[in-house]
Amino acid sequence: MTTTPTPAAGDPAARPTVRCQAVTRVHPGGTQALRGIDLDVAAGEMVAVMGPSGSGKSTLLQIIGGLDTPSGGTVEVCGELISALSEARRALLRRRRIGYLFQSFNLIPNLSVADNVELPILLAGDGAGAARRRRGELLAQLGVAEHAAKSPATLSGGQQQRVALARAVANHPDVLLADEPTGSLDTAAARDVMTLLAEHHATGQTIVLVTHDHRVAAAADRVVTLRDGLVVDAVEVGPGSPPGLPPLLPIADPFSAVQPGARS
Ligand code: ADP
Ligand code: MG
Repeated sequence: MTTTPTPAAGDPAARPTVRCQAVTRVHPGGTQALRGIDLDVAAGEMVAVMGPSGSGKSTLLQIIGGLDTPSGGTVEVCGELISALSEARRALLRRRRIGYLFQSFNLIPNLSVADNVELPILLAGDGAGAARRRRGELLAQLGVAEHAAKSPATLSGGQQQRVALARAVANHPDVLLADEPTGSLDTAAARDVMTLLAEHHATGQTIVLVTHDHRVAAAADRVVTLRDGLVVDAVEVGPGSPPGLPPLLPIADPFSAVQPGARS
């Protein structure tokens, strides 16, 4: 009964990038946020997680990302049992294999845009030259190169989320976790960020995305719905669905009225 983390000659698709089995989480104070989640995310897949506020979406994402630990059950990321690792090993796994995108961007305010993107590359142990090159490449790719020297707070929300995306993918993570990444953006900026995410997914990026917006979710391969800490529904959006965005938007739509944290 040994598990071999070595990527043997086998088929990489045989093992899901993320595997949650019977995951529960009781938060301090006694709230049972997750009641037994089983969820596999295949390599290259994009899964959208939906559900009302308080249904456990963020808790699940944080547990997959090793920012929180389950009370019961197991979580594997790339074959590593992240739920059983020491804090130090988890930090290492997070740094190398997982990218995060948050609703509130979470950029470091007293670092420049460029340094925000470069920092995780340096922390992962790459040399300064390589980090600078990668940073330049990402900022150009995401259309924010001209803002490199600025402080993040001087950028619009959409631009900050572009920078946050550059940071999130800087180390070529095996999985990108995004918690309502468009939740604090206006309609145009939200569409813009989703287009970039979809483009990134089209290059093979595995993504788990929490969203309240059905059109955002429609960019995913599969939509999983949580309620009271349980998966109550899982829908394939369609085999071979195009990697780009679904037809987004008549402009005057209710989406623009949805506030961050709004209940669905
Ligand atoms: P969602 O992201 O779907 O809105 P959350 O995962 O944030 O849901 O929360 C699920 C439940 O767990 C809620 O009842 C919430 O109040 C509770 N909760 C979340 N985080 C914590 C925490 N750090 N401490 C205590 N309770 C928490
Ligand atoms: Mg949440």
